[in-house]
Amino acid sequence: MAEQTPCDVHAAAAQCAAQLVREPVRALSAYHVAPSQGLIKLDAMENPYGWPEDMVAAWLQHLRTVSINRYPDPAAPQLKERLREVMALPREYELLLGNGSDEIIQLLVLCLAGPGRVVMAPDPTFVMYRLLTTAMGGEYVPVALDAESFALPREAMLEAMARHRPALTFIAYPNNPTGNVFAREDVEAVIAAAPGLVVLDEAYEPFARTSFLDRLAAHPNLVVMRTLSKLGLAGLRLGLLAGSPAWISQLDKLRLPYNINSLTQATAQFALSHYAQFQAQAARIREDRGALARALSRFPGLRVWPSEANFLLCRVLRGDARAMAEGLRARGVLIRVLDGSSPALAGCVRISVGTAQENEALLAALEQVL
Ligand code: PMP
Repeated sequence: MAEQTPCDVHAAAAQCAAQLVREPVRALSAYHVAPSQGLIKLDAMENPYGWPEDMVAAWLQHLRTVSINRYPDPAAPQLKERLREVMALPREYELLLGNGSDEIIQLLVLCLAGPGRVVMAPDPTFVMYRLLTTAMGGEYVPVALDAESFALPREAMLEAMARHRPALTFIAYPNNPTGNVFAREDVEAVIAAAPGLVVLDEAYEPFARTSFLDRLAAHPNLVVMRTLSKLGLAGLRLGLLAGSPAWISQLDKLRLPYNINSLTQATAQFALSHYAQFQAQAARIREDRGALARALSRFPGLRVWPSEANFLLCRVLRGDARAMAEGLRARGVLIRVLDGSSPALAGCVRISVGTAQENEALLAALEQVL
């Protein structure tokens, strides 16, 4: 057979993929992460602070104890023990660990969604719920939040639940990208009425300090998800799900046995023994969030929503959100454009709270751009 050019091979592969790849996957767009090298990174809700030098040295020393030639412990019992301590999780609940909470969302969807099943969530919210449900061939039913305040519309949600009978419902608490925490009594009503499992996604708990962990005892259909990403360990990829053993044991069947690598296990244990450091950083971010929100609100061309998370949702009232973000990028600051992702987010951008210096640089750049 004649040698083919790479071009021929790619064209043939594309034809083959178009036939074989499942339709819902072909229809998806990949999750986009903007290149950020050299920029002040205010686009991904990361903790902007590093660790003190002596802590870095102690961490590197701790990593020497890892036998990297061996597979990781698939159950990670010591790490789970530490997590239980910092979360004050009662003994009767189990923990499932994921390679980021992204992986836990994937496991939940793999377990409970699919053709003929509905997954529900308020809208707008974290995009991964929809992306993974759709990929599994499940039906995703968004329920619009209040267009003005982004409050959870209790009646509309209960009505949609009665009609669509979702097997799985995601509630981000606080919500991404709107930054608000929904009224507790509305969330309670939704959990009580849900015919399926409800996942309270508490990724931003360090900045809101309100939780449904204490409601696990009241609702057999509730599980609570957290992550170490926003606290300051986004590079580590460690998420966790707390709930009744009945749920966790089913999900655990789908978890790849070595999903939490040895370096992550060792680093997370080390980091959790310095938990106060991360709590102090979160407190700093909460304080700076207030100052940044006030400063942003002073721009007449911007509307800023109140936030309980480590980011602020803003609407560009005069001009174009994309052009503004481009202008900021040209001045070295990266933020996330949400305009175009949902009608409710027309003209919107999301800005993570950075260090005081980074926030100053953002404000100075905005002065020029707006
Ligand atoms: N849940 C919410 C609400 C999020 O905003 C994010 C990240 N942006 C995640 C989960 C995923 O976080 P990770 O995979 O880093 O744990």
